[in-house]
Amino acid sequence: MSEADDPLVNGKTPSTEGRDPAYFSYYAMLQHQVVFKHSRTQNMLQDTVRTSTYRSAILLNGPLCFHNKLILDVGAGSGILSYFAVQAGAQKVYAVEASQMAEKMRKLVESANTKESEALAKNAFLKDKIEVIQAKIEDPNLPIPQVDTIISEPIGVLLIHERMLESYLYARDTYLKPGGTLFPSTGSIFLAPFSDIALWTETMGKARFWEQSSFYGVDLSALYPDAKDEMFGMPVVGCFDPRTLIAQANPGGYVVDFYTITLEELQDMTIPFIWQASYTGIIHGIAGWFDLHFSPPPSVPNGNTIAMSTGPAAERTHWQQVRFLLKEPLAVNAGQTIQGWMRCVVNEMRSYTIEAEIMVGEGQLTNPTIPLTSIYNLDFNRRRGKWRLHEQTYNYNYYPQSDNLFRPEYNCLYEPEHPIDTTVVVENNFVDDNNNQFIM
Ligand code: SAH
Repeated sequence: MSEADDPLVNGKTPSTEGRDPAYFSYYAMLQHQVVFKHSRTQNMLQDTVRTSTYRSAILLNGPLCFHNKLILDVGAGSGILSYFAVQAGAQKVYAVEASQMAEKMRKLVESANTKESEALAKNAFLKDKIEVIQAKIEDPNLPIPQVDTIISEPIGVLLIHERMLESYLYARDTYLKPGGTLFPSTGSIFLAPFSDIALWTETMGKARFWEQSSFYGVDLSALYPDAKDEMFGMPVVGCFDPRTLIAQANPGGYVVDFYTITLEELQDMTIPFIWQASYTGIIHGIAGWFDLHFSPPPSVPNGNTIAMSTGPAAERTHWQQVRFLLKEPLAVNAGQTIQGWMRCVVNEMRSYTIEAEIMVGEGQLTNPTIPLTSIYNLDFNRRRGKWRLHEQTYNYNYYPQSDNLFRPEYNCLYEPEHPIDTTVVVENNFVDDNNNQFIM
């Protein structure tokens, strides 16, 4: 990819228009509102962790944030969050959905307004409560007033994939009353190093096809480096055993506060990390996941904060986790400091292009804004990688709660005899040669 095409360089003014027809026709289908595209066993409405967390957040904050309030549901889909808002006593819900799913929602809502339905008392609670608007939330002149609360499920893999959070912020800036509530209110991204020789070897095996020098008499090896870049540039979505993490993620994670974050901050984020290895082992890459929090703003005191985690130790969700493999694994000793950063910059595929640097022990981190080509890539204790978050591949080898099989990566992990004191404070190294701190 030339620098001119590189979203890390040119990503500041992205256009997702070209991607939208395919994106919205995907969500137009009932099966996709229920069955999530990348999962064999779980889905969106049927993701009970997701759906019941939203329901708890809405109902437990019903009196403060929903009762007799005006609500906006951004990307309402089947309308499920709007129905919860009505259950929590909303005065009126504006349910905005860009895809044809809006028609389905209208059918369901209108069935509540028929006499027959009232007689049966089916969905009677929805009567005259929901205004379905088929539009993109960014469309001008929508018939939406300033609202007290915005609800939405604009979350993708690693929180940010699909770039729907941008529509959420647009709704916040355009339709939320000052001091209004945003559900969800924060997302926290967690990163930790993992060891998985099986996954790494499988990925290497795919690239190695191109190593052959006589495939039907043709030398393919000129494409081997490209094949490696491609295979290792694909984030791996799926669950994994939390015991394969070589260090704990930074407590609290990297917080994305939906009340305050700007569009520019969301489009180019650098996540710093400092870990301490709990094991001696081989790092094959960086694992990522997120938590969601639902809390009313300070202007609405006494609210209930509801949280959910999509981490490897939590109950499985349709988002699962994501892993970013390193082309060259990195060895680490128990107790050593591992530090680095992950920079996520929007691209035109409704997603992000991601670069990361990871360094074990002593050394100077490079500045995330310096392009990969102009630095030395492979130190003995440092690795850099680049991934495109939309080019996901799936790995379903591990099922939480059901996987008791021996796995090869356990060969390189063990329970430490003396657990490492992870409360040790480690100095960070996020300064450049001129002593400028480059990560806040
Ligand atoms: N709120 C539903 C659906 C979530 S999926 C639920 O929780 O089950 C996200 C939905 O947002 C999809 O149906 C998609 O078509 C819609 N969407 C995405 N971007 C949008 C935008 N800019 N304007 C309106 N709808 C949007």
